[in-house]
Amino acid sequence: MDKKVNRLICPVCKAAIIKEGNNYFPFCSPRCKDTDLYHWLTGKYKISSPLKVEDEEDEEEDLS
Ligand SMILES: [Zn+2]
Repeated sequence: MDKKVNRLICPVCKAAIIKEGNNYFPFCSPRCKDTDLYHWLTGKYKISSPLKVEDEEDEEEDLS
């Protein structure tokens, strides 16, 4: 049986994360968890009119 080293990274900021004792798994921080949730929600629910969201998110990733 292979012993795999689970190298986990945060899907939002790509930082290395540890599963054990991490309340925000699979994210590295509550901020990343919120960020991912935001992306998930905005991708899930199609809103017919532009939704202006103003928050402290300042590191927009270019998802082209
Ligand atoms: Zn992160």
